[in-house]
Amino acid sequence: MARSYEKSAASFEEAKRYIAGGVNSPVRAFKNVDLSPVFIERGKGSRIFDQDGNKYIDYICSWGPLILGHAHPAVVEAVQQAAAMGTSFGTPTEIETKLARLVTERVPSLDVVRMVNSGTEATMSALRLARAYTKRNKILKFEGCYHGHSDSLLIKAGSGVATLGLPDSPGVLENTGQHTLTVPYNDLDSARVAFQKFGHDIAGVIVEPVAGNMGVVPPEPGFLEGLRRLTHHYGSLLIFDEVMTGFRVDYHSAQGRYGIDPDLTTLGKVIGGGMPVGAYGGRREIMEWVAPEGPVYQAGTLSGNPLAMAAGYATLSEMGKPGAYEQLEERAARLAEGMAQNAEEAGIPHHINRVGSMICLFFTGEKVTSFEQAQTADTERFARYFRNMMEQGISIAPSQFEGMFVSTAHSEEDIDRTLEANRRALQEL
Ligand code: PMP
Repeated sequence: MARSYEKSAASFEEAKRYIAGGVNSPVRAFKNVDLSPVFIERGKGSRIFDQDGNKYIDYICSWGPLILGHAHPAVVEAVQQAAAMGTSFGTPTEIETKLARLVTERVPSLDVVRMVNSGTEATMSALRLARAYTKRNKILKFEGCYHGHSDSLLIKAGSGVATLGLPDSPGVLENTGQHTLTVPYNDLDSARVAFQKFGHDIAGVIVEPVAGNMGVVPPEPGFLEGLRRLTHHYGSLLIFDEVMTGFRVDYHSAQGRYGIDPDLTTLGKVIGGGMPVGAYGGRREIMEWVAPEGPVYQAGTLSGNPLAMAAGYATLSEMGKPGAYEQLEERAARLAEGMAQNAEEAGIPHHINRVGSMICLFFTGEKVTSFEQAQTADTERFARYFRNMMEQGISIAPSQFEGMFVSTAHSEEDIDRTLEANRRALQEL
């Protein structure tokens, strides 16, 4: 029997009366999959439950943060205890140091961090710092990488060599866009050309060490190493945007997995355990430029919020237990391999990328190493696949250009059920 989404649909209509577009972040509107969004009432472990009583095995996991699944007892308890002590003080609290210490101990390139409230704040602040520290204007980013919605990072992924970015969104000053250079992901030659042309004015290169915002696209061997060499050579800073990959793809984050030390790192998602948190950090000598020690201003009323810090600390503590990342790796590998086999059997052109617990099933026969290749995917077919999976109780992101996140709460049985649903959906396409 088909599921009913009546209550969610009514909630969306009501939401549209009071919230711009009915949602507080655009992807939630399910626009590109021709559905009304489902309104979630609660989550537990690998499951979420919508207002109409439908349940789902969830692979959105709040777009990455919930590496322990929903409402993990350790996180819930930590947040409850913190809340009972007061929700915010705007003064230093010890839990901020405890989380910062865990983060810097696990990621060797981080001497010190500064906590903020979102990934967007983290990347925006890291860029300001890089520009101040190097006394340069330009930044280099990669097509298909997303670094939040601050002006200088909202630049259309241009193709070609050292393309001068133009504002992607109306409202971004052209002048701002002119200082953002974009080249294709995994294309070291284009990055080199951009440096040959503008190297003296490039403050930093910002990159997702595993791209997770054009589907999932791993770095090709040598790509990150090459960026490290280029930035060294030209005196630019290498900024790893690990908002998504930080403590997700490895105990030491992506930089540990690939053995590269960036100059600056941005974090978010997992380090907040589902609460609004971001962070940026790096070598002490660079971070000393941040106020109050240095002249680069950056602040936040709720930064280092005790509830958020408690959730992050509980999450990272759980992920510090032996075997946590190994379990994620094994389950995600089985899921990815099973999906590949199902697609093979159904005769559906596909390419699956996986790094740790980040997975993407692309509906294209091409190997996907760049945004251009990701865009060869059949998004119409993806939309049909998405709707079929929803109907079977599997929640995945409503876009071909997002990954699936496996959490430690996903059981072997969840993986089996997901593979069965995936097999059926692919057969029915
Ligand atoms: N950087 C990356 C790599 C991200 O994936 C995201 C969010 N998906 C951001 C930055 C922005 O983070 P936020 O949505 O918390 O502002």
